[in-house]
Amino acid sequence: MVSSHEDYSGKAFSHNIACMSCFRGVVFALAISACAAPVHAQSNPTARAQVEAQRGWEAVRDGRNQDAAEAFALALDAEPSDPSPHFGAGVAAYLLGRPTVAQHSLERALELAPGLTDASMLLATVLYRASDIAGAIRVYEAALEYAPEDGTLRTRLDDLHQEAAVHGSFLESQGAHFTILFEGAADPELTSRVSNILEAAYWRVSTALAVYPERPITVVLYTQEQFRDITQSPQWAAAAYDGRIRLPVGGADTDPDELERVIVHEFTHALVQTLTPRGVPMWLHEGLAVMFEPNGEAWIDEQLSRTPSRLPFERLAGSFGDLSGDDARLAYAQSAGIVRALFESGGPLTVGSILQDIARGDTFVIAFEQRMFMSYDAFLAGLASGR
Ligand SMILES: [Zn+2]
Repeated sequence: MVSSHEDYSGKAFSHNIACMSCFRGVVFALAISACAAPVHAQSNPTARAQVEAQRGWEAVRDGRNQDAAEAFALALDAEPSDPSPHFGAGVAAYLLGRPTVAQHSLERALELAPGLTDASMLLATVLYRASDIAGAIRVYEAALEYAPEDGTLRTRLDDLHQEAAVHGSFLESQGAHFTILFEGAADPELTSRVSNILEAAYWRVSTALAVYPERPITVVLYTQEQFRDITQSPQWAAAAYDGRIRLPVGGADTDPDELERVIVHEFTHALVQTLTPRGVPMWLHEGLAVMFEPNGEAWIDEQLSRTPSRLPFERLAGSFGDLSGDDARLAYAQSAGIVRALFESGGPLTVGSILQDIARGDTFVIAFEQRMFMSYDAFLAGLASGR
């Protein structure tokens, strides 16, 4: 997995996931225009709103998402009909892992300013993640009326039409925590097995971390061929997460243990990503996903005992995508080993709190130190000494 979204001011950020079981993905990339306006007076509501909105965008830029949400709320108190703080409130809510609030704010921004392309892009992303492909398509189509030359909008719309065509014949099974899309011809026993594994993963992983997704997570079951078509994944990819969990399910020969491993791994990514859309180091994302796999711990020990060599810790913060196969396995095992050390010293609940702190805008190091009651350097030194 790669997180490359630091450049967030007036440009774009994207979140990429790539790993052995979820190889791909630009999950989303959205352009945010910082709506900073010069401010000369504090005395009238418009000026006050501008000051707060500017503070909000600065907070978004710095990753202080909770501060951003509060600043935009103050701006809207002063000037409720200004679309920019509604958009900002939508961005902040999205980054805080609150898609329902984000959706309402973005819809309001677009009511006031239908040509606000960036708001349309984010709203479409939120709807898409909630399995509302038709809604996302409507948002892109409306946005194109105001920006007919926008190539990004056009490409996204084409992709969604393509996906909608594949899914046109799919049935939907709507549960409390998951929406499962599958072909009518799919093996009903397999579909129900996937559903059971997902529900079990939901309770096990969410309860361990004490974090729960706000909305149902979409899971799409494909044949191998559809999976390659939609995700354009390499042959070795076992599954993908890009806002939806995408699983190739082969039929009767599907290995039940492997199916469970992959589902739990991808669900963990989905949970972390929903809760904390950015700022989670790669090793934490992947390490959690491996640790919650049914035989995750045994796999870590097996991998680490194969070789005395270790990748430098810094190598685990970014993408594993360009590592060789052996190094990639080592990267996963080391990452999961670090998460295991976190579980042993602070417990999974503490790791859940760290994720929530990051969602609110703390850096990982600050979140770590305030939750673990130890310096991050001391923790790293402990790891280096072979704990
Ligand atoms: Zn992964």
